[in-house]
Amino acid sequence: MRIAQVSYHTNPLAPLGGRQTGGMNVYVHELSRELARRGREVDIFTRREGEVPEVTPLAPNLRLVQLPAGPPAPLEKELLAPYVPAFTEELSRFAAAEGVTYDLVHSHYWQGIAAGEPFARAQGAPHLVMFHTLGEVKNRARVSEEEPGERIRRERELAASADAIITASGHEHDLLARYYGADPGRMVSIPCGIDTDLFAPRDRDASRRALGIEPERPVLLWVGRLEKLKGVDILIDAVSELDEPDVLLLVVGGERGHELRDELEAQAGAAGLGGRVRFSGAVPHEELPAWYSAADVCVVPSYYESFGLVAVEAMACGTPVVASRVGGLVSTVTDGVNGYLIPWRCPEPFAEKLEVLIRNPELRANFARSARESVQRFRWDEIARRMDDLYADVLAARVAKEAVG
Ligand code: UDP
Repeated sequence: MRIAQVSYHTNPLAPLGGRQTGGMNVYVHELSRELARRGREVDIFTRREGEVPEVTPLAPNLRLVQLPAGPPAPLEKELLAPYVPAFTEELSRFAAAEGVTYDLVHSHYWQGIAAGEPFARAQGAPHLVMFHTLGEVKNRARVSEEEPGERIRRERELAASADAIITASGHEHDLLARYYGADPGRMVSIPCGIDTDLFAPRDRDASRRALGIEPERPVLLWVGRLEKLKGVDILIDAVSELDEPDVLLLVVGGERGHELRDELEAQAGAAGLGGRVRFSGAVPHEELPAWYSAADVCVVPSYYESFGLVAVEAMACGTPVVASRVGGLVSTVTDGVNGYLIPWRCPEPFAEKLEVLIRNPELRANFARSARESVQRFRWDEIARRMDDLYADVLAARVAKEAVG
């Protein structure tokens, strides 16, 4: 089976922790890698930035294909929509030049889905889609700039035309049905996977030594793409409310000069937290297990998360999570078992639960044990098998339909 994974706006292999490189990059790369391991022939398609080869072999059965569309320079995703048709043309040109036909097209994020849809039709292949984030949901969270109506209109059309919509959680499934009128019969919920070989507990003291953190200091960790929807401002306010003068908050992701990072550093400074909040910038994915292992608690105060890989990675490293009760976090974090879920987007309830965990090492140890067990269902071998089964089902349904038609 030859599969095209379409990730138009962001290269799944780009360094993580920038404004537009996060969970979707990790997901597309790891899913493709696992499918290739299972013997599928997988090409990942992304927009070319700068002078790079068109085709880069990544592993047996797995290639990265970078195709031009619009200016060669890196562009914010908000500016990339006009070049979607050019990218679709490139997809078709590439397939024709290679003399191949794709059996199935799996596209990601609304722009990638918009590019993949006509390509899949031209290939005579089923189109599977994954939205990752939804314009309507971002707007309802009311923290970022308003997503344009055009995005939401296109998302509605693309949800209607896809052969299958993969949702990362039951919550995303409900949102698509409620706000987009998506057909529940064509939606399948398959959670994201994580690399449980990489994300496993490391020695806490050694991890702290390596990161220059004192062994006894209570440490909170936030990791992600630095954007308003992530609620880091709530976390900084929560830290200033803590009755724990020694606490250290590590903020991983977002480079110096990033507008929101400057704002958050100013917020921490104004709250008198200078020495208690450390902005560490982006950290390579492979190095994150040491950060999670060094922390006492990982905090995910997002206004919305469609899945929230960071929470699962932290739990896989045996670190309890305090997260907002939103989106996919509701299906990964179990309140009072492996962490806490906070129903309000305000600092006080976060501070309260953080204090409980900071002051109670036994509770942390219990949560850590449960956390490690609870992430086994997100192992990639299992998730890739489910995706592979879905691909086979969708293809079989297409063949059956063609036989009837
Ligand atoms: N990440 C990383 N280094 C960083 C910041 C983030 O490797 O400096 C990774 C993190 O490990 C996770 C992903 O980026 O795998 C973020 O995914 P999540 O689902 O939590 O958030 P999203 O980016 O999808 O909003």
